[in-house]
Amino acid sequence: MGAIYYGTRTFSKHMGYFGPKQECDNCHRTYQKAIVRFKSWFHIDYIPLIPTKTQYFKSCPICGAGFELRKQDAKTEMQNTGDGAAQILEPHAKHIMANKPKGLMATDNSYELWLKDGNSGEDICIASEISKEDIKRFKKERGWKKVPMEKVE
Ligand SMILES: [Zn+2]
Repeated sequence: MGAIYYGTRTFSKHMGYFGPKQECDNCHRTYQKAIVRFKSWFHIDYIPLIPTKTQYFKSCPICGAGFELRKQDAKTEMQNTGDGAAQILEPHAKHIMANKPKGLMATDNSYELWLKDGNSGEDICIASEISKEDIKRFKKERGWKKVPMEKVE
């Protein structure tokens, strides 16, 4: 008999951008806020079986500053899609000097994380000198499906 693994796993999902554009107190950029849902499941052998907890966070899509929303408030906010063109922010990462010799650094901190504003065309660097693990952490926190990686030599 093999070991049975059980516990909880949390999945995050970017629900979209909602409400009016607002200046962020932290980074001072003006965007609609993002709402991200975190859903925890009790799993057995990594198969999600029973949902145990759902949380919603409303945050600045650029710097991530924000707070937790009550479920009902999140539902209400998500009905307000704002006016004007849909806000488009595409995450992408750059691996700087991707071809440097392996083992040069204990941890390769030469990744950068960017958000491309699909409305203005502006490319915004939101984190630099970070590791591949940091990018995974951002991906989970922001509920992004994927973060395309570009090698910069
Ligand atoms: Zn911000």
